[in-house]
Amino acid sequence: MPALLWFRRDMRLHDHPALLAAAEAGEVLPVFVLDSRQLGGPEAVSRTYLLRSLRALNEQLDGGLCVRVGEPETLIPALAREVSAEAVHVSADYGNFGRRRDAAVAEVLAAQGLSLVATGSPYAVAPGRVLKDDGTPYRVYTPFQRAWLRHGWRAPAVSSAASARWLRLRSDAIPADDDLGTLQLPPAGEVAAHARWQHFCDGALADYATMRDRADLDGSSQLSAALRFGELHPRSLLAQLGEEPGHEVFRKELAWREFYADVLWHNPHSAHEYLDARFAAMEYDRGAEAELRFRAWCEGRTGYPFVDAGMRQLQAEGWMHNRVRMVVASFLVKDLHLEWQQGAQWFARWLRDFDLASNQHGWQWTAGSGTDASPYFRIFNPVAQGQRFDPHGDYVRRYVPELQHISGAAVHEPWATTAGYTHGYPQRLVDHGVERAESLRRYQAISR
Ligand code: FAD
Repeated sequence: MPALLWFRRDMRLHDHPALLAAAEAGEVLPVFVLDSRQLGGPEAVSRTYLLRSLRALNEQLDGGLCVRVGEPETLIPALAREVSAEAVHVSADYGNFGRRRDAAVAEVLAAQGLSLVATGSPYAVAPGRVLKDDGTPYRVYTPFQRAWLRHGWRAPAVSSAASARWLRLRSDAIPADDDLGTLQLPPAGEVAAHARWQHFCDGALADYATMRDRADLDGSSQLSAALRFGELHPRSLLAQLGEEPGHEVFRKELAWREFYADVLWHNPHSAHEYLDARFAAMEYDRGAEAELRFRAWCEGRTGYPFVDAGMRQLQAEGWMHNRVRMVVASFLVKDLHLEWQQGAQWFARWLRDFDLASNQHGWQWTAGSGTDASPYFRIFNPVAQGQRFDPHGDYVRRYVPELQHISGAAVHEPWATTAGYTHGYPQRLVDHGVERAESLRRYQAISR
């Protein structure tokens, strides 16, 4: 009997257990549904990346990917009927939206006597599996990561385009990309992702333990969008890692992704609400002045060069270095006293790797309301962070042309150089020392 293989966050053909499960049943119709509820949303950069990934997958399938635009609850059962499929195969989706959607599709299929069969997930260890001895979930990363390592994962599945006999059906046209202006995205798709992984293995991986924090260097994998859309499965990467320090640290970074997916799975409300509910009662700034400060942050005009470079990198590339993500997030919450959700929404709009679990919990971690074991007192100093992680100032000069005339690390303190405020670079929006004290005062008020 034929089967449907419904792609979602698994835009690849290799290491694809659901593909193998579908192929076991007989001929396979490869399907992707562009959900009309998500097409018009504000996340234009990650959506454009997805559309490109979709074209790449279609190419790998010799133009045989059946793309439909609409609602999966209607389209998937209709396609199953059209090819007389006995089952619809998927990789399980653990996100808030995906869970609800899959439950709705499964219900309609069941009414037709068909099943939605989930094999595998976007993670090495599916969310919900790693639990403490008493059966409760972890709230802190380090013990989770140790238990995750002990739990272990399967070897990569051996699959490719040749693993199935593919059915073909009429496809809707893949919509045109959103207009991203001057923003440049790297190539999408499984082939490009493997090339990027290879490039990383041949180069930066060996020094990853020491270089990953350097914003000025190409020291990290830049595979976050590939992992987000499943062009690569983390298991494929884990299988190639050894025990060298760079490899070990890279494995731990992949574990952060798994940890946040697990936290969101156990606490779906934390996508929008404070994980630590006390923080909802903290004093945050609102009103016209707060709005002006938020706009300055969005546009990279805070007067703090490391923060501004990060915010401009985001709009130039749809990506920001991890160290800088933490610094700009800390600045929004602890220097500007705005709520993390505002910043998370801006990131969602601009990140090509936007992922609800990693983004919302990356924000909550930095805001102190999430899973950080040493929470609120961690207030990043935007100048010291720049001097440490962009020691020659190259990162700042790359994204902030107004500061190109200042050489070396002096670029992190333009106010201290005589040439500082020429070329239109703004004055500091706030004084970090003053706002740090103010932040701690507000924290004291809720921790009493
Ligand atoms: P590498 O250093 O090469 O790491 C390899 C992979 O491990 C990454 O691709 C990613 O999948 C995972 N990873 C690494 N660090 C983290 C982390 N701290 N949390 C979760 N996963 C991690 N990551 C996203 O994928 N999507 C997001 O929307 C996102 N939003 C973030 C928002 C904030 C405020 C912060 C502080 C972090 C956020 N991150 C997010 C995590 C991290 O910044 C990115 O995964 C990383 O910068 C991607 O670059 P890379 O692929 O070169 O990472």
